[in-house]
Amino acid sequence: MNQLLRAVRGMNDTVPPLADRWRKIEADITGVLSQYGYREIRFPIVESTQVFARSIGDTTDIVQKEMYTFEDRNGDSLTLRPEGTASCVRAVLENGLLQAGAQRLFYLGPMFRHERPQKGRYRQFHQVGVEALGMAGPDIDAELILMTARLWQVLGLKNLRLELNTLGTPESRALHREQLVAYFNNHHDALDEDSRHRLTRNPLRILDSKNPALKALIADAPQLAEFLDEESRSHFGAVRAVLDAAGVAHTVNPHLVRGLDYYSKTVFEWITDDLGAQGTVCAGGRYDGLVAQMGGRATPAIGFAMGLERLMELLPPAGEEEASEADLYVMGTGIEEKAAALALAEAVRDALPGTRVLCHCGQESLKSQLKRADRSGAAVALILGSEELAAGLVTLKPLRGQGEQRRVARHALTEHLLALLGSA
Ligand code: ATP
Ligand code: MG
Repeated sequence: MNQLLRAVRGMNDTVPPLADRWRKIEADITGVLSQYGYREIRFPIVESTQVFARSIGDTTDIVQKEMYTFEDRNGDSLTLRPEGTASCVRAVLENGLLQAGAQRLFYLGPMFRHERPQKGRYRQFHQVGVEALGMAGPDIDAELILMTARLWQVLGLKNLRLELNTLGTPESRALHREQLVAYFNNHHDALDEDSRHRLTRNPLRILDSKNPALKALIADAPQLAEFLDEESRSHFGAVRAVLDAAGVAHTVNPHLVRGLDYYSKTVFEWITDDLGAQGTVCAGGRYDGLVAQMGGRATPAIGFAMGLERLMELLPPAGEEEASEADLYVMGTGIEEKAAALALAEAVRDALPGTRVLCHCGQESLKSQLKRADRSGAAVALILGSEELAAGLVTLKPLRGQGEQRRVARHALTEHLLALLGSA
């Protein structure tokens, strides 16, 4: 026998019944986004490398060590998307969407980063991302965060906490940066290798370090808040006021800087303690400079992305009903009856469009068909034998203990099924 082939490390298959849960969580999430007027945008999984190099910032982990970049057969440098914002902005500009004014958009799909695989961290993972383009004020920031709070409520997720910060304008960040570099230079010996590297390239990101040995040093570092301009300060205050008024609890974390270079003003993360070090389930912020950086007319924007694997890991374990493949299982005893069973299944699908109807295919005996029906999780088996066929009847056999087996007239079948499934 040939050796079995395996999926790439860090890239997972999603098989039933888990894939059903994925579809449900995606539908729940996009349902909430629609409630706020967000519409889906789709763009390719592969882009020219420039799209990410120019937007994400070439000092970030993503661009420096996580991207799947390759040359295609023409020698063009392409990259599997590591995140959605850059592609989204590229697509918005290329399709001229901003000519129609502000846009509220969402996307959903796989992202690729060459990281060390572990719980909550994969090489192919999935995000739902949201981008609101063309709105400068704090109102859209606040609305976006209210929308995320509603998402957790709809998904039934508790134990998520909201952390906020403001990164100010590029000017206030430049002042802060100078002080930060001076401070860390004074403590050069205490830095780890990664942070020394960041010190010369992007010192703000030392604050983002996950090394516990640096915690105290980082806590005492000059804080951006001291350098904030008035506009950023009042913008942040207005966002927080809306959250307070809506009862959305949050804490200000002055060290929240986000991994990506393109953020400004509001940044936020929703964090859980239930996933160890991979605790951030949703992260976002304002990126007023990005659209111009990507060649468009200067346009304010804000967005966030959430990691679906991490959200899935927070959901309670699947119940028995999630394992079920079907609501009804249709079977026939002989060749003629099986053909009639296919037609019957079609008729039931016509009459009850929301019902999952599984029709047995194959020559098995009635006994093994019933076994299979039971394993399918269906509530009722519909059986066609020669007598039923001749008399225009169907045998209904409840499989989950609701009532006795009985024969009903085919023309009254829908009514009986509605009664049975309704009480299931
Ligand atoms: P982290 O600090 O955990 O590496 P990040 O700052 O790189 O996260 P973002 O680029 O902001 O993450 O992506 C948004 C969300 O996507 C994260 O909050 C997380 O939920 C999810 N995510 C990011 N990278 C991965 C990954 N490798 N595997 C699974 N989910 C991920
Ligand atoms: Mg990361």
